[in-house]
Amino acid sequence: MYKGKCMQKKYIRAIFPGSFDPITNGHLDVIQRGRNLFDDLIVAVGKSPIKNALFTPEERVEMIKEILAGTPRIRVEAFDGLMVDFARQKKADVILRGIRSLTDFQYEFRLAMTNRAVAGIETVFIMASAEYGFTSSTLIREVASLGGDVSNLIPKVVNERLKRRLAKLKDKG
Ligand code: ADP
Repeated sequence: MYKGKCMQKKYIRAIFPGSFDPITNGHLDVIQRGRNLFDDLIVAVGKSPIKNALFTPEERVEMIKEILAGTPRIRVEAFDGLMVDFARQKKADVILRGIRSLTDFQYEFRLAMTNRAVAGIETVFIMASAEYGFTSSTLIREVASLGGDVSNLIPKVVNERLKRRLAKLKDKG
């Protein structure tokens, strides 16, 4: 019979950083699957400016909070500056990221190496599900702004806000 010391399992907090402009079903899939791997998860919305942004970081946080309301062990917060500083401040043990393709992998690999070198923090990857492997916020913004229907790829609340935002932008000319 094994008589060694029983190792106490460490509480693991993950952080899932991104732009989330807007959050997609692909992100939500990573969040739901990531939740099962860790004790708690912080969805961290970056405030740094992105090309052709549609929503402010505050709006993105608000939407994600609405979608994840009532989901235990999840928090949604915005952050400014270096992500690893925020991760440290929040006492996160690992960074969670999603991978859709080899192109993602190349970028994510370098990012993970850098984050480990500068902050000693590990990154855990979740492979995109077949269903959402081609979904990206950038493409959703582009397709929707040209009048395409993206309702299968984003949550209903996001689709409604996206339509309202695009209509407003169109009115402004
Ligand atoms: P960033 O601007 O930091 O890449 P994103 O909001 O685009 O932020 O993405 C956040 C994370 O989610 C990244 O790791 C990205 O690869 C991952 N991701 C985005 N879309 C999907 C998807 N459809 N399936 C799996 N992972 C995804």
